[in-house]
Amino acid sequence: MATPIETVVVDGLALAQEIRKELQEKIAAHLSEGRRAPCLRVVLVGDDPASASYIKGKQRACARIGMDSREHHLPATTSEKELLDLVAQLNADDAVDGILVQLPLPKQIRANAVAEAIDPAKDVDGLSPMNQGRLLLGEPGHRACTPLGCMKILEQQGIPIEGANAVVIGRSAIVGKPVSLLLQHANATVTMCHSRTKDLASVCREADILIAAVGVPKLVKRDWVKPGAAVIDVGVSEVDGTLVGDVDTEGVRGVARIVTPHRRGVGPMTITLLLSNTLDAYEERLGA
Ligand code: NAP
Repeated sequence: MATPIETVVVDGLALAQEIRKELQEKIAAHLSEGRRAPCLRVVLVGDDPASASYIKGKQRACARIGMDSREHHLPATTSEKELLDLVAQLNADDAVDGILVQLPLPKQIRANAVAEAIDPAKDVDGLSPMNQGRLLLGEPGHRACTPLGCMKILEQQGIPIEGANAVVIGRSAIVGKPVSLLLQHANATVTMCHSRTKDLASVCREADILIAAVGVPKLVKRDWVKPGAAVIDVGVSEVDGTLVGDVDTEGVRGVARIVTPHRRGVGPMTITLLLSNTLDAYEERLGA
């Protein structure tokens, strides 16, 4: 019988805090040179409690590192034109470095139209067609925060990416597609899976790096994981009032080399990369 592997359950919050400390030091240096603080504007449309709570988390994180953040809370009845007008106003405002429009949006508003309207230089969520296209082409631009967070975790854990077989479950424009591209740019061989993939378990068993971005509770089981694989759990679902990830974290212990828990895993890194993208946007804007 194979010797069980000592699985590292990654503390994404600790890693996020390390990066936030560096960001805080950079902001303090800018302030000491007489510059204004970087500014993120967050737009929330409607009253979805989960979105409101994500936004509060983002604002708290901004405040802790000395970043200015302001919220625009619009009613659920807001028209697409009204939201696009606000985006145009924020695009034109020189004191604004980053714009984040919280998803999901109400049915009457096309998320793609909004993403397309955000100035790519201020699109710190990395979801505008321009920034997604730049990622496809391997050109500089803001990258989507959750995929970037996954890559930072792999890097920080010393997981070799070049030449690795990476399997990504989920093909959304927010997580699955961009993380697949980031892995390809880092020279992994990437297989993308989705709801029509045949025999998902055997595809996953070939993965040195397995990223689950699905939203199906505990989809990834112990016998789906290749011994020594790095497993990143992006998914978050609610089951009986409790948040659950896409990976059976306890089940993969002793098989995976690393696994991210659904709490204190990828989530804190997503927020941190938003802060990092906003600081980058600020430094580019000010030429600092
Ligand atoms: P999404 O747009 O709903 O995409 C889900 C993907 O999973 C789709 O590509 C879908 O396939 C695939 N899928 C669904 N059921 C499947 C199954 N049984 N087997 C294989 N593939 C299946 O979701 P998303 O926005 O990418 O988010 C994915 C998850 O990550 C969600 O739980 C979300 O809450 C979470 N999330 C977490 C963070 C964080 O910071 N922690 C950030 C973003 C998202 P088809 O394309 O064929 O439909």
